Amino acid sequence: MIKASSAEIRRILENINRFNSTPEEGEGTTRVLFTEPELESRKYIKSEMEAVGLKVTEDSVGNIFGTLEGSDPTLSPVWTGSHIDTVLNAGMFDGMAGIVCGIEALKMISRSGITPKRSISVIVYTSEEPTRFGLSCLGSRTMAGALTPEDMKRLTDKDGKTLYGVLTELGYDVSALPDVVRREGDVFASLELHIEQNRHLDDAKIPVGIVRGICAPTNYEVVIKGVQGHAGGMAMEDRHDAFMACCRFALELEKLAKSSQGEYVTATIGRVRVYPGAVNVIPGYVGFSVDIRSIDMESKEIIMAQLEKVKAAVEEEYGVSVEMRLDNHDIPLKCSETVLNVVRDVCKDTETESMELISGPYHDSLFVGRFAPAAMIFVPSKNGISHSKDEWTDFEDLATGTQVLAESLC
Ligand SMILES: [Zn+2]
Repeated sequence: MIKASSAEIRRILENINRFNSTPEEGEGTTRVLFTEPELESRKYIKSEMEAVGLKVTEDSVGNIFGTLEGSDPTLSPVWTGSHIDTVLNAGMFDGMAGIVCGIEALKMISRSGITPKRSISVIVYTSEEPTRFGLSCLGSRTMAGALTPEDMKRLTDKDGKTLYGVLTELGYDVSALPDVVRREGDVFASLELHIEQNRHLDDAKIPVGIVRGICAPTNYEVVIKGVQGHAGGMAMEDRHDAFMACCRFALELEKLAKSSQGEYVTATIGRVRVYPGAVNVIPGYVGFSVDIRSIDMESKEIIMAQLEKVKAAVEEEYGVSVEMRLDNHDIPLKCSETVLNVVRDVCKDTETESMELISGPYHDSLFVGRFAPAAMIFVPSKNGISHSKDEWTDFEDLATGTQVLAESLC
C-alpha cells in the first residue's frame, strides 16, 4: 500500500473550507445544509471523487457516494465517510476529515494496484449537524429507517421550509425516498474516520483512537409548576418555589449520573427558563431540558427509573407539580467487534500506536450501526477543542489515520 499524503489531505480540506458563509476573519467556518456554500462544496467534492476514479452517485436525501468498484460487485459493499455540513462558526475538520481521508484512502488502494473484492464507497452523509432542521444525522437516520418522508414533511427550518419541500425544490426524487432505507446485510461493514472532539488522544500523544462505542442521548423537557408570590411577603415555610424545586431535581440528577455503575454516563441541564423572572418574585413556573447520555441503554434506563422517584420526592417536598416529557431516547452503539478487530490488527501490523476510546458525541455511524457492522477511527483534536474556529488536527495525524483506514477497508 502506498503512503497517505498529508499534503493532498491538506489541499482538499483547505479547498472545502473556502465554501463558507462566514468568511470574515475570526468567524470560523459555517456551512449549513443546502445553502449556497454547502451546495457548492458538494459539487467540489464530487469533482475530487471523480478525479481519483470513483463512480459518483447521490440518493434522494442527498447522501453522496463515491465508489471504488470491487471485482465482485454482487457482494455487499464496504462503507466509509462522514459529513460536510457544520455548526455555526465551526472549524475545518469535524466531518470533513472523514470525507477527505476516505477519498485519499480509496485513491491509495486503487493507485497501489489493489482491486478489492467488495466495492468500497466513501459517503457524504446529508446534514449530520442539527443546524438547519434541529435534528441531526438526516442522511444516515433516513438510511436507518428512523426518518420517514412523513417526518420530513413535518421537519421545518427557521423560515418554515420543510426538509421534504427543500429536497423537492432542489430536484431530488422524493418519490424514491423509501429506497434510501438499508436493511441488515445490505452493507458488509462501515468504518468512519472522525476527529476525536475530546482530549484523550492529544493528551496521550497517540495518533489513532479505536472507538468501541458511541453514546446516545435521552432527552426530556421538564416543567415544574409551583406558586408565584412576593419575595418579601411570603415566609419560607409557605412557599412552593418552582426554581428551588428545579435545583433539587438538578442536584439529584447529578448524583444519579455520578453514582451510576455504567462505564460512561453524563447528565446535563443545559437550558432553564424561570417565570416570571423578576428579582422580587418567587418563581411559579420553571421549564428545563434534561440530557442523559451513556454508552449503554441499561445505565440510561436505570437513571430514568430513578428520576421518577426524584420527581415524586420533589413534588412532595416542595408541593409543586413536575411534568416530564420524553422527547428522544436514542440507542447507543456498541461498535462491531469484527470491524474493531480488523482495525486493531492493522494498527499492530503497521506499528501504529493506538488507544481504545468511546465517543461521547454521536455521529452518522450511530445510525449506520443499526443496519451494518460499524466502528470508527478517531484522530487527535488539539486540546480537545471542536465546534469552534480553534478546532485543529495536524495533517500528519490525518495521514496516519488514513493509512490505518485504507489498510482496514480492503
Ligand atoms: Zn462530526
